[in-house]
Amino acid sequence: MNTTSRAQARPLGVLAALPQELGDLISAMQAESGVVTRTLGQRDYHVGTVHGVPCVVTLARVGKVAAAATASALIHAFDVEGIVFTGVAGGVGSSVHIGDIVVGETLLQHDMNAEPLFPRFEIPLLGRARFDADRALAATLADACERFVTEEGTALAAHFHTAMPRVHRGLVISGDQFVASAQAVGGLREAHPEALAVEMEGAAIAQVCHEYGVPCAVVRTISDTADEHASTSFTTFLTDIAGTYSTGILKRFLAAYAAQSR
Ligand code: SAH
Repeated sequence: MNTTSRAQARPLGVLAALPQELGDLISAMQAESGVVTRTLGQRDYHVGTVHGVPCVVTLARVGKVAAAATASALIHAFDVEGIVFTGVAGGVGSSVHIGDIVVGETLLQHDMNAEPLFPRFEIPLLGRARFDADRALAATLADACERFVTEEGTALAAHFHTAMPRVHRGLVISGDQFVASAQAVGGLREAHPEALAVEMEGAAIAQVCHEYGVPCAVVRTISDTADEHASTSFTTFLTDIAGTYSTGILKRFLAAYAAQSR
């Protein structure tokens, strides 16, 4: 196999924390190409082609360690050419509402604190607190989200009895906490005024991808606003509609990615 065809054959890693956050991706892969499943570290990695893109699809489960371990396996055992994380998150920015979509451009671990040895939030020995998503992947993802909202937003707005969902791009913060109080989310807003969303995996994936030079991108649908209503709102959103978002976003994103790779 020459370098060009080998490069073309490298798959994209697509992952989420929970099964609902993958939408119909695995069944769509099954229908399109068949699926070969390999189990490693108690995770099932589904290998096949979906919406024209060779992919490895898996579930990280919840939290930064789970996410980092899964990203590392995708890189080492499957030689992925990039990683895309899809899922739900709590809204932090005042303009970010339930049903909106946030595409991460920068990611930060809000619970990292090795003071006074290192500045607050800095990852010790890496010399940085923030990790950038790959610009091209994030742009393709944001474009797919905009098209999803344009084409399916009316039905989504009817579901939420609100205005059309919006797509935001910017800072996503991650930590090993489900943020569920006005006080906690207020503290995060104060520490990171530009943060749009809070979740539990994205910045861990971004760190691993940074360390290995693998492009990554994160897309999050807002399931709650990280306050006292968060656990009810999160659970309802996950059950009722998270899959609709992931299905709609991923099929547009992957089709665009396939067209770019041709
Ligand atoms: N396994 C449990 C717990 C999920 S924790 C369950 O299924 O009920 C919440 C998940 O959604 C995490 O993966 C996190 O990334 C994201 N998330 C959504 N809202 C969040 C919030 N308010 N704070 C932190 N993470 C949130």
